[in-house]
Amino acid sequence: MHGLMMDTPLVITDIMRHADRCHGDTEVVSVTVDTPRHRTTLREIFHRARKLANALTRAGIKPGDRVATLAWNDYRHLELYYAVSCMGAVLHTINPRLFPEQVAYIVNHAEDRLLFVDPMVLPLVEKLWPALESLEQVVVLTDDAHMPSSALSDLVSYESFIADEADSFDWPDLDERAASSLCYTSGTTGNPKGVLFSHRSTVLHNFVALMGDSLGCTRRDVALVVVPMFHANSWGLAYAAPSIGTKMVFPGPKMGDGATLAALIKEESITLAAGVPTVWQLLLNHAREAGIKLAPLRRVSVGGSACPLAIMKEFVEKHDCEVLHAWGMTEMSPIGTLNAFPHGFEEWPEAEQDALRVKQGQPVLGVQMKIVDDFGRELPWDGKSAGVVKVRGPFVCSDYFKLGHPSEAHSETGWFATGDVATMDPDGVMQITDRAKDVIKSGGEWISSIDLENIASGHPKVLQAAVIGIKHSKWDERPLLIVVPRPGEQPTREEILGWLQGRIARWWTPDDVAFVESIPLTATGKISKLELRKQFADYVWPGAE
Ligand code: ADP
Repeated sequence: MHGLMMDTPLVITDIMRHADRCHGDTEVVSVTVDTPRHRTTLREIFHRARKLANALTRAGIKPGDRVATLAWNDYRHLELYYAVSCMGAVLHTINPRLFPEQVAYIVNHAEDRLLFVDPMVLPLVEKLWPALESLEQVVVLTDDAHMPSSALSDLVSYESFIADEADSFDWPDLDERAASSLCYTSGTTGNPKGVLFSHRSTVLHNFVALMGDSLGCTRRDVALVVVPMFHANSWGLAYAAPSIGTKMVFPGPKMGDGATLAALIKEESITLAAGVPTVWQLLLNHAREAGIKLAPLRRVSVGGSACPLAIMKEFVEKHDCEVLHAWGMTEMSPIGTLNAFPHGFEEWPEAEQDALRVKQGQPVLGVQMKIVDDFGRELPWDGKSAGVVKVRGPFVCSDYFKLGHPSEAHSETGWFATGDVATMDPDGVMQITDRAKDVIKSGGEWISSIDLENIASGHPKVLQAAVIGIKHSKWDERPLLIVVPRPGEQPTREEILGWLQGRIARWWTPDDVAFVESIPLTATGKISKLELRKQFADYVWPGAE
């Protein structure tokens, strides 16, 4: 017997309609290339989204067509988010920091018809133009007055693209399974792969993003949207904040600038923020050097890579700001787990609190999870057994876009292999030990590079730490610790190894410490182990031939 409840489709259009009607006055502030502090409201954004939908229709965009963006976080990008998906087309967000060849590959692979590009990123498009086969038109995200000069002909500014359009648009009734947006993972090996989100997956993920222990949006909050809109739908913030009426502040191209972020926090009364650890490191460095408190910030969501304990503690102790450690990936829309603390956590001994803080937390409702060994056998949730994490659920990708061959990650029917290795506590609290491809195998046992990095970066003279496995004649592989010292500090190898002593199993101790000025980052701001391995390809252990 079926229940007698309505079967209305789960579509992004309803998020927009709801936000327009109930939260139209909510402010949206953006830093753009042409304005240091642009102010608008959700009502105005949806008004312009309707004009944009008319302009896109006039440009021949049909349901299912891909419309690409190479853009920072700002109000125009938000207009594209809603206009493109709600008219039935697919918003393809592209990371401007990808290798140029990867940008060309994914534009062609996605068969993007139109591209909306930030003026700062236009030189990249000019360079790639002959290789961008499917593009029919490029729209520059600015007005006529600020159009950059360009070798490309037929460029049009966003403002003139939408200027003469009617401000009403009849949003179509969409199938909830229709594709809404597309995002390619950066793909450290092989070509990037396209994750194709649907209206349904986006709306279901939005409910998860809005849970009390999730990103933390309420109507009283002001959110700093640092996590890029070109990366996994800004972790859902671009839908969650409008859904509940949270004021949004977009840092535009300044997302990696600690001073700008600190100024925005103070002047716009920002209470919550979301981003990767490297961004928070920059912000905390700025706050430390400038001697300021990051008030009224009260909650920071951090994910994308393991957040070092030192960052979390500095937020809590110096800025009275709670940190929510989350794990996920583009293929999961992206939220997979959230590390919410249980009742009474504040009374726990500090060491126990710290032990929980560094974990990635419990699967969110809607995500089923298991860990498996090399033979695919399920491992127990005992806090000790480490295995590859597999997930499934209504906002986990079931295949990659136009892959052309079966996806290895989907080889077990109904499950997606994340490529991460983790332990699970009996109550489902997950701790990532490594990405499968970064695992260090020493004498047949695994050493967790994430654990080592976390502890090493807690040393007062260490700014950033990364660990990679280097071939070893006796043990197969041994860990090399790579350290960026804090400005003005010159830690020694012995000091760093001494700090690790007693904090890790003896046999985990890195065989050497290399000091460097900076650590290479990926296009999404994470430590690039791939690049590090290349940099240290010729490394020889001290005393070895
Ligand atoms: P990209 O590879 O393009 O950066 P994703 O953002 O989808 O793509 O990366 C997801 C990966 O990031 C995960 O598989 C995991 O390895 C890593 N990751 C995400 N959050 C965390 C976290 N809190 N702790 C450790 N690793 C994380």
